[in-house]
Amino acid sequence: MEILIYQHNSNLSFDDYQSALTGLISESCPNLVVDFQPVDLALGDFLEGWLTGQHDEDPFYHFENIAYGTSNAPPQSRLLTDIGEVTLTMKDKLKNYAKLSHAGWGFCSNDFLAFNYAPPEFRIRNLVHESLHLFSVNDCYDKDLKSKSSCDNPKCIMRYGQSAVSIEICSSVKNQLKSI
Ligand SMILES: [Zn+2]
Ligand SMILES: [Zn+2]
Repeated sequence: MEILIYQHNSNLSFDDYQSALTGLISESCPNLVVDFQPVDLALGDFLEGWLTGQHDEDPFYHFENIAYGTSNAPPQSRLLTDIGEVTLTMKDKLKNYAKLSHAGWGFCSNDFLAFNYAPPEFRIRNLVHESLHLFSVNDCYDKDLKSKSSCDNPKCIMRYGQSAVSIEICSSVKNQLKSI
């Protein structure tokens, strides 16, 4: 699996995020290799244009076309956009796009396209949270934002608004990763 990364308005490091995510995944799924790459220039320009309101082409369909290419096989690429210092206008645009009014820090569209715009102190853990959705992991909270009974770790990163410093997952998330 390859995660393509685009960074808007930020040059913060991805090192802590990458080691946290690969650590969680290799624990449950030792044979899955995760590769992180920056997006190419064309995709970067597309995303920058969309985020800054220069065009309104849906990024999901745009990336889906790129990821599938001419093959019918399930694409092995996912896209992660990390936004530093999000403006209110951009945050509204993103929440409207996600159709999720509670998406205060980020969201993941169709297990395929993840966005992070969390405040800096929550950035790494939210990058991990949204990236786990790229591996089809579900949230550990219900519609009312309360934790699901299936989540047996209060520090689980898939709970809503998790602020625990250590990045941990529950046995339900581990089982979902094992079934990749
Ligand atoms: Zn989530
Ligand atoms: Zn959980």
